[in-house]
Amino acid sequence: MNYLNADLHCHSVVSDGTLTPEVLAQRAKANGVDLWSLTDHDEIGGQDRAIEAAKTVGLRYLTGTEVSVSFAGKTVHIVGLGFDHTQPSMVQGLQATRGGRELRAQDMSAQLERVGIKGAYAGALKYVGNPELISRTHFARFLVESGVCSDTSEVFRKYLTDGKPGFVEHKWARLSDAVSWITQAKGIAVIAHPARYGFTPNEEYALITEFIEHGGKGIEVVTGSHTEAEAARYADVAREFNLLASRGSDFHSPEESRQDLGSLPALPLDLTPVWSLLKEQVH
Ligand code: AMP
Ligand code: MN
Ligand code: MN
Ligand code: MN
Repeated sequence: MNYLNADLHCHSVVSDGTLTPEVLAQRAKANGVDLWSLTDHDEIGGQDRAIEAAKTVGLRYLTGTEVSVSFAGKTVHIVGLGFDHTQPSMVQGLQATRGGRELRAQDMSAQLERVGIKGAYAGALKYVGNPELISRTHFARFLVESGVCSDTSEVFRKYLTDGKPGFVEHKWARLSDAVSWITQAKGIAVIAHPARYGFTPNEEYALITEFIEHGGKGIEVVTGSHTEAEAARYADVAREFNLLASRGSDFHSPEESRQDLGSLPALPLDLTPVWSLLKEQVH
């Protein structure tokens, strides 16, 4: 099972990716993906399209989403896989999680205006594919387009991360809620890109143990945002805490993403892949 070329993390125009679910399905297929999931931020509006598109190109598919969660003063991402995307608590929970994005975007724009960057809200909106899902990525694309920065990672570094002029603190879902929406809908909750959070060892321990207490079962080991050393470290975490291992590129765009769909290293063979417990949920 570990040798499957599974790519269980990516984004479409339904959140902050630049490709449609249909084009992503074709790209995944062309790149040799065996099992795919579209995991738009706080949104499952693209799932029916992804299921259909996967069927059309002959690709196995698991439903997916990436839920924004506030934990220990930071934003943590929890990926949900293989759930029933019509389950009401999931649908309503994600809708509530998306709800604050509009005001947050207006606040971000007002803050950017104070450092001389005008029209960022309108500028970001030009890149938005889903009116309920304006994200920092859309602002980053606008700031590159308008010449303020030369690439999106420079925008995040200088403007959109904690302490920088365009950053607005935001209250996302609770960890316990995100995990229970996913598990109540018969899916598996997975901690996304654990190396990205910059937690202290104590905070990370709290995240993992609370996540497990609430019913979380998986962790991303091989992801587009981990180095080889980080993947090795979180393989150890998966062993230590008996977590299922997941693998996903976090692909957003051919121009911006470091990892293309289906192009990641394999999971270590001794780990139990998350898809081994999701066989019945495969479309
Ligand atoms: P948001 O949900 O609006 O806070 O936006 C989060 C998204 O911003 C992430 O899912 C990434 O796509 C993107 N992002 C976060 N940090 C960076 C970074 N340092 N460089 C490029 N993109 C980033
Ligand atoms: Mn994103
Ligand atoms: Mn993420
Ligand atoms: Mn992601």
